[in-house]
Amino acid sequence: MGFAKAERLNKLPPYLFKEIDRLRDEVRARGVDIIDLGVGDPDLPTPQHIITKLQEAAEDPATHRYPAYSGMNRFRDAAAGWFERRFGLKLDPAKEIITLIGSKEGLAHFPFAFINPGDVMLCPSPAYPVYNSSTIMAGGEPYHMPLLKENGFLPDLEAIPAGVLKKAKVLLINYPNNPTATVADVDYYAQVVAFAQKHGLMVVSDAAYTEMAYDGFKPPSFLTVPGAMEVGIEFHSLSKTYNMTGWRLGFAVGNAELVAGLGQVKSQIDSGAFDAVQIAGIAALEGDQKCVADMCALYQERRDVLVKGLQDLGMAVEMPRATFYVWCPCPKGISSAEFTKRLLNECGIVSTPGNGFGEPGEGFVRLALTVDKSRLAEAVDRLAKLGF
Ligand SMILES: *Cc1c(COP(=O)(O)O)cnc(C)c1O
Repeated sequence: MGFAKAERLNKLPPYLFKEIDRLRDEVRARGVDIIDLGVGDPDLPTPQHIITKLQEAAEDPATHRYPAYSGMNRFRDAAAGWFERRFGLKLDPAKEIITLIGSKEGLAHFPFAFINPGDVMLCPSPAYPVYNSSTIMAGGEPYHMPLLKENGFLPDLEAIPAGVLKKAKVLLINYPNNPTATVADVDYYAQVVAFAQKHGLMVVSDAAYTEMAYDGFKPPSFLTVPGAMEVGIEFHSLSKTYNMTGWRLGFAVGNAELVAGLGQVKSQIDSGAFDAVQIAGIAALEGDQKCVADMCALYQERRDVLVKGLQDLGMAVEMPRATFYVWCPCPKGISSAEFTKRLLNECGIVSTPGNGFGEPGEGFVRLALTVDKSRLAEAVDRLAKLGF
């Protein structure tokens, strides 16, 4: 049968990780012992106090009914409290916070609230694929701002052509960054605010990795920069911070109009996050944050094993200050696709080709720190034998 798909689906690239999973499964079927550094999904369980809270909450029939569209008031209060403790900024939970069914959901729906056909969304590249795809699905045009090593993997705002800026409505940033593992400081954020004000742009800040940082570093929130609350919305997620990727819980904070626009779209499409999951989320945000510190300490050890190992092999890889990714340059003369293939076929290591996140990612592969130290050491050993 030949059912024609909607045009908008034909405009989308295939979802990157689907293809990588297929290749991995092929090699695994040959009996190879795979070290999977592909997808950014924590390998550790959700902390017990959060699981226990879900169990209790799920027993209460009050949680079995439709949730409130914008999220439980108590969850939004908890998010406001967490945000103030963490970033020192007080938010109005009624107007400046909305619960999300994972931040991917919110990021994907945001363009439907603010992008008309022909409007440009300024998206980083390489990037988390959702920004590009959701812009296209909403009928907008993504403009790809390259993240280049010479600019510290920050978009060069002055390099955006005037013709593009005229049509641009939204500027999207993501720090700490997936996939380049770089961070932005408040000076850069201040430049973003000034640029947005000058050109009448909204700013979307994807802040999924603010809690995953090393060597005592605390990544800032975009919203704490003066003027940011007038132009910006920031997406936070419990997924990486509390090993809760499967639970689907996040929240957006920021400018009340932007939050309300997103909420209007969501009310037409979904019926909110399960209350029991939100109650468990309150336990995560208000509970002891030692679990977060422990997680960072563990990833930091892993990072040190992998990055030092790669550096000892002569690879020009930088020590990331945040995220659980390592953005690894390919050996000279080898493309991202080729390096990914050789890592898989010759070392049994799953990586993600940098250009899969967008063409400017060519020349890199992304490695995720989602296996334990001994397996990372094993990965380095296998690479050493290959003689890169
Ligand atoms: C993992 C990730 C998210 C979080 O997604 P959830 O839907 O909250 O699980 C958001 N942005 C980026 C860049 C990510 O890597």
